[in-house]
Amino acid sequence: MAAKKSGSPTPMMEQFFALKREAGDALLFYRMGDFFELFFEDAKVAARVLDIALTSRGEHEGEPVPMCGVPVHSAESYLARLIKGGCRVAIAEQTETPEEAKVRAKAEGRGSKALVARDIVRFVTAGTLTEEALLDPKSSNCLVAIAPLRGAIGLASCDISTGRMVLEECAPDALEAAIARLGPSELIVPDEWPEGLGGDMGGKLDGELVGATIDAESRPKAHFRSEDGEAQLKSIHSIATLDGLGDFSRAMLAAAAGLIAYLEHAGRGTLPFLLPPTLRRSDAHMAMDAATRASLEITEAQNGGTRANSLLGGLDRCSTGAGSRQLAEDLSAPLADKARIEARHAGLRHFHADPILRADVRAQLRSCPDIGRALGRLVAGRGTPRDLGQIRDGLAEAARIRDTLLTSPDLPPLLVQQIAALDGHADQIALLARALVASPPTERSAGGFIAEGYDASLDALRETSGNARRAIAMLESRYRDETEVASLKIKHNKVLGYFIEVPAKHGDGLMAPDSGFTHRQTMAGAVRFNSVSLHEEASRIAQAGAHAIAAEEAHFEELSEKIINAREAIALSAAALARIDICAGLAERASEGDWCEPEMREEAELAIEGGRHPVVEEALARSGERFVANDCKLSQSDRLWLIGGPNMGGKSTFLRQNALIILLAQAGSFVPATSAVIGIADRLFSRVGASDNLAQGRSTFMVEMVETAAILSQATPRSFVILDEVGRGTSTYDGMALAWAIVEAVHERLVCRCLFATHYHELARLAETCPALSLHHVRAREWKGDLVLLHELAKGAADRSYGLAVARLAGVPAPVLKRAKTVLTRLEKARDETGGMAAGLGELPLFASKAEEPEENEDAALYEAVSKLDIDALSPREALETLYRLQREALEARA
Ligand code: ATP
Repeated sequence: MAAKKSGSPTPMMEQFFALKREAGDALLFYRMGDFFELFFEDAKVAARVLDIALTSRGEHEGEPVPMCGVPVHSAESYLARLIKGGCRVAIAEQTETPEEAKVRAKAEGRGSKALVARDIVRFVTAGTLTEEALLDPKSSNCLVAIAPLRGAIGLASCDISTGRMVLEECAPDALEAAIARLGPSELIVPDEWPEGLGGDMGGKLDGELVGATIDAESRPKAHFRSEDGEAQLKSIHSIATLDGLGDFSRAMLAAAAGLIAYLEHAGRGTLPFLLPPTLRRSDAHMAMDAATRASLEITEAQNGGTRANSLLGGLDRCSTGAGSRQLAEDLSAPLADKARIEARHAGLRHFHADPILRADVRAQLRSCPDIGRALGRLVAGRGTPRDLGQIRDGLAEAARIRDTLLTSPDLPPLLVQQIAALDGHADQIALLARALVASPPTERSAGGFIAEGYDASLDALRETSGNARRAIAMLESRYRDETEVASLKIKHNKVLGYFIEVPAKHGDGLMAPDSGFTHRQTMAGAVRFNSVSLHEEASRIAQAGAHAIAAEEAHFEELSEKIINAREAIALSAAALARIDICAGLAERASEGDWCEPEMREEAELAIEGGRHPVVEEALARSGERFVANDCKLSQSDRLWLIGGPNMGGKSTFLRQNALIILLAQAGSFVPATSAVIGIADRLFSRVGASDNLAQGRSTFMVEMVETAAILSQATPRSFVILDEVGRGTSTYDGMALAWAIVEAVHERLVCRCLFATHYHELARLAETCPALSLHHVRAREWKGDLVLLHELAKGAADRSYGLAVARLAGVPAPVLKRAKTVLTRLEKARDETGGMAAGLGELPLFASKAEEPEENEDAALYEAVSKLDIDALSPREALETLYRLQREALEARA
């Protein structure tokens, strides 16, 4: 920055400050030649996030100005890192050339010294990316705006990389769940929020939006007016009324207004690709809150958060990025409508029954580029010749996939529907096939992407420059002959253009005035010359080249426009390809894992035979272990299962596998079971006792109870609930009492299907008063002092919890185990004496010191038994039997 050592700011600094004011909290990328430079605080932040050198340049108010910079040609990778690091970036480009600036300055009477004009051309933020290099091909990039209106909250979400836009509405207490479902990379909120709406958000909504891990970006409340939203949508889609698209509420339109205003701001007036909005009805999908999503590890595993170990990771066999993105959405929002679910199953069944068709279509899909995203870039004005090429290849592949599918008889309606959407692009394919070279480049300014034969005048220009190039080659050999310098070469570089080069020792020979050569440069080992003929040919190349590039540029604009005009049909094809990919991919997964097609019912029932946990089963298979399948049968008269059994016995796995089977079925997949009859769930809840959430500043037990309270207030008779050791986060009796009351409430009030895992044996007594509750346990056996976990579910209450045996398996030292056994014996004795739960811990002889303990030393008992033996009186066989008995007693005593 041309900052002075002191005094008033330079014009450049003034320009910088003006741009920075516009950029607000975004880092300002200030274009200077081949670099984007950052100054002041921005430089410090960028240097830290990017781990690049922080330097300084000039002074401002007596202090050096911190500075760092990134080269323009590799700016994308730096942008990617900044966005990942939570930054937003404003790109300030030079909007005129230095020559234009000089002309302007002269015209304005300011002499020839002029500052090049700069302007912010774009804000780059996590939710407004379209660049291929900055996006994950397998994940959607969702931007969400929310707006409160008359007690409801409107949500507008879009993925501008593909143009999809969805409007919906929810109650304030369902906002957190809706945001968790959408998983936005950026959230736009009004800077004023009505008091009392949305739980503890009161007044202002900021980064700590209940549970959301992303920062919310506040925008002026005036941007969220429903009338503006309606007007904008009508104008973008050139329609007189929105009625044909859906019955959008005022809150939804207010959110749409906020979203569009933000997109306009980020694109500096240019709107990205937006398809007509679709309306999402909350009752069309199975509802899940954020805690349920996290605990079921649907799209991300907990503790480390990778996709690979999640349900999605284990399920995704899609061949395209677009398929994977849609599958993630399907899993995040399973359907609640029987006909739609069955339509998806039928699509999958078709591919499941025909492995050859499946393999063919999947192979074709693999060579299909991401046309949705290529289209998004073109519409946003950031398209490249490569994007046009991708659309050509993608649409051509779509037509071939259509032909392949049409050879298959009895296609189900879902696939027939997709096939129809793949059709109708023959003109665009033919045009792009004629116009473009086989693999067009990502850079459009260098030309070279329009195919030969497409434009005769472009071909002529190329011919001219080709001829001139050939003429230069001939000139080279002629000069070699004339000068007798065999090593003479005609070369080209950016600074000099074309020149003749000879080794230094031959330089003098060419210097003579009548040689026809003019000297240009003397290097260490070589001398460079020009000649009239070379200059002429070089000019022909340059002129033809410039004209050719201009012609290609014009073709690019024209071709882009034609594609953009067909954007809605192309986007429909992209969506159809994704749906076909999901059907074929899920069919592949189902046949790999021997999954079955579920039978869907409206009634709240469940009959799963041979059910498995898809992720645990895969993990066990990798280490050569077998997963034990289990049944789960719930009906109105037996809808609440209380499940006990040892730690590590498989209770949590069983609970989750049943929830996941329901979720998979409603998302349109087959399920890991030998047979499954599934009553459609309107809501799915999963709660795990005592999971830490310290990041949110709530204690373990508090989180557990907040989440449980949500179930008790929201579950309906059609819901499915799994509760895993709820109540264990507090003292034994408090926890047990709460668990007791919760089970009763689920049984009496919610009347929903529920699996409840617990270690509290005492809860078994609930079976006496709750007729629709039954007792189950995961089986275990002790064998030769060792605990064998069978992972098998059986009817009836668990006889004991085997906690100490599990602790021994885990390597807890023997003295600790011994002491625990003593304490346990006393507790059990006291409980039996006081009639079960009545005794308080304080009344138990728990805290008696070890010194007061009655002698229970099994070593001593063994010692006594051995010393009493009359060995001479024993036959060899008796001696052996005695030895066996002693060993058994010793082992039992240890356990
Ligand atoms: P805790 O009471 O300690 O929470 P748990 O009874 O809930 O234990 P899980 O966490 O479900 O037990 O299972 C423990 C481990 O047992 C799993 O990680 C898995 O490796 C194995 N397991 C669970 N279920 C099965 C099964 N059906 N077949 C084979 N292995 C299983």
